[in-house]
Amino acid sequence: MSDFSTSELERYSRQILLFGRKGQEKLKKARVGLVGLGGLGCPALLYLSAAGVGYIRIAEFDIVECHNLSRQILFSQEDCGQRKDLQAQKKINQLNPNVTTALFGRLHEQNMDEFAQDLHLILEGSDNLELKFFLNDACYASKIPLIIGALGPEQGHVFPVFYPHACYRCVFVDVPSEEIPTCASAGVISPMAGTLGSMMASLAVQFLAMEMVPQDLLVVEKTRWRSIPLKLNPRCPHH
Ligand SMILES: [Zn+2]
Repeated sequence: MSDFSTSELERYSRQILLFGRKGQEKLKKARVGLVGLGGLGCPALLYLSAAGVGYIRIAEFDIVECHNLSRQILFSQEDCGQRKDLQAQKKINQLNPNVTTALFGRLHEQNMDEFAQDLHLILEGSDNLELKFFLNDACYASKIPLIIGALGPEQGHVFPVFYPHACYRCVFVDVPSEEIPTCASAGVISPMAGTLGSMMASLAVQFLAMEMVPQDLLVVEKTRWRSIPLKLNPRCPHH
């Protein structure tokens, strides 16, 4: 049986009603990687931590900038100019001291294996398209489940990459050659970032606690969500 303290049992009681102590214990033992503490990574980290994911390895190297505070909701005015990962770690320690956070710094091709070691799941919420494709390829090859989140001015999506199901290249093929409007270049509605980051965390918790494998691409456009079943693309190099 699990070794939850009384305060943990109280904290997680509403989740335990749904998936039992067994499910909560799976969350406690889960090791999750999070790439990026931006508009998606911040709410995702808050919910993963509040829900009781036991270990979260964070890949982030940037500092908090005040023009991002409207959607990077982990951070406050006084965090501007500070390291995002360090400030995030402090906040998560306050939110839920049962969660261990490990700071990894900048993720790149050479240290991917080190980052992914012993992880059960990775969430990617950066604004770097090359990184999304790189993580797709690396995680698919090593069969590590991956949840990619992306947000632009007009729409956003959450893309689950769970081997042997479809991958990011099945739909998006490759990094586009033309310039794509980004939040930095074309603006963004801040709560949409929260919606997407929360959805990423929700899929993660349901997978880790209840072994529910997400198989749909979730797209949000202004006020509307769409769920699109993913299919293997025979032209994708991974299949
Ligand atoms: Zn594919």
